[in-house]
Amino acid sequence: MNPPSISAQIQKKASELGFDLVGFTSVSRSKTIEIYKAWLKKGYAGSMDYLQRHSKLKEDPRNLLPQTISLVSLGFNYNTLDPPIKTNNPEIGRISRYGWGNDYHSIIRKKLNVLEDYVINKLKVGKISRSFVDSGPILEKEVAYRAGLGWIGKNSNLINNEKGSWFFLAEILLDFELEFNLPFNKVDCGTCTSCIDACPTDAIIGNRSIDARLCISYLTIELKGAIPKILRPKMGNHIFGCDICQEVCPWNKEAPKSKENGLYPYPENLAPELVELMTMDSPTFNKIFKKSPIKRSKRRGFLRNVAVALGNWGNPAAIPALSKGLKDEDSLVRIHSAWALGKILDKKSKIKLEEAKRVETNKEVLEEIIEALNDIKNVVI
Ligand code: SF4
Ligand code: SF4
Repeated sequence: MNPPSISAQIQKKASELGFDLVGFTSVSRSKTIEIYKAWLKKGYAGSMDYLQRHSKLKEDPRNLLPQTISLVSLGFNYNTLDPPIKTNNPEIGRISRYGWGNDYHSIIRKKLNVLEDYVINKLKVGKISRSFVDSGPILEKEVAYRAGLGWIGKNSNLINNEKGSWFFLAEILLDFELEFNLPFNKVDCGTCTSCIDACPTDAIIGNRSIDARLCISYLTIELKGAIPKILRPKMGNHIFGCDICQEVCPWNKEAPKSKENGLYPYPENLAPELVELMTMDSPTFNKIFKKSPIKRSKRRGFLRNVAVALGNWGNPAAIPALSKGLKDEDSLVRIHSAWALGKILDKKSKIKLEEAKRVETNKEVLEEIIEALNDIKNVVI
């Protein structure tokens, strides 16, 4: 019997390490870079300036490693649990399932290091490699499609016809030739529009892409400043990311569960009470989310999101927590707390806003307080 090929050995090792999807493709200049650049030009990336900076590098993986001949494309399943029913309750925060457990970057980075070491030092077929998980300057969905992992759905996610779309993508660049897969061509979205119909902010646009400026994932994680007022009511109780366009996708109905323990939820991240989150100080935030991807939003961004969700709940029970937010040292938290209090038609919220108006010195916060007071001007104290 012939020994397994190098490609087969890499595939086996990657599977042992927990990668659920593995494919190989040859290096080439990106075939979708012009679409990507047009997307950037239209401003759909919002404030993610690093995407603009990376766009030159993304033209060709050889800009990252000139010796590249082959790319290994990898998918890592993060489908742990279904969200608890409790998260339908507007006083409970919704966190995207990838944010429930430990930060995937460190989990996958360790596995990539092992896989690269195996290829270079054990198989000894190449001399140099480079790997990326999620945030590298590489058009990873195109690479995954070309390596046969799946197709890019209308919701802009890579979908595998057997395992769905709950995947982090990663890549290894190698300086030797492998047995390449064919680009995926088995099925496509067809006439389905479930994700487009379900998106609360109409963020899904043509060409299998998203207007990030409207997307709740961007608004709650990447955006560093104030959330546009027009979008706040559409965010419901989403406080970190949004999974709606994947949850409604028929290809995820039978999606297998992740085998990675580190991604399974910390109980406190699964269905947190918004009121409790709103009163978190910096040491508590840093302690609770030390190992979590949630730390990316920082306390100020996270409490901004929580305040918006409390405003959308609109219940007087949120007034004490939002009043605390109205006195927060960070103006971003004060801005969104003021907005949220303006959504609670109760005399106590009006009293708190009036008090804050007398002492607030920040112009933007003051404007928000005045607008919030206007929203509840008919409430009688
Ligand atoms: Fe729309 Fe949410 Fe999908 Fe963003 S993540 S496109 S907001 S459904
Ligand atoms: Fe494609 Fe439908 Fe899934 Fe959207 S929900 S990505 S249209 S299959």
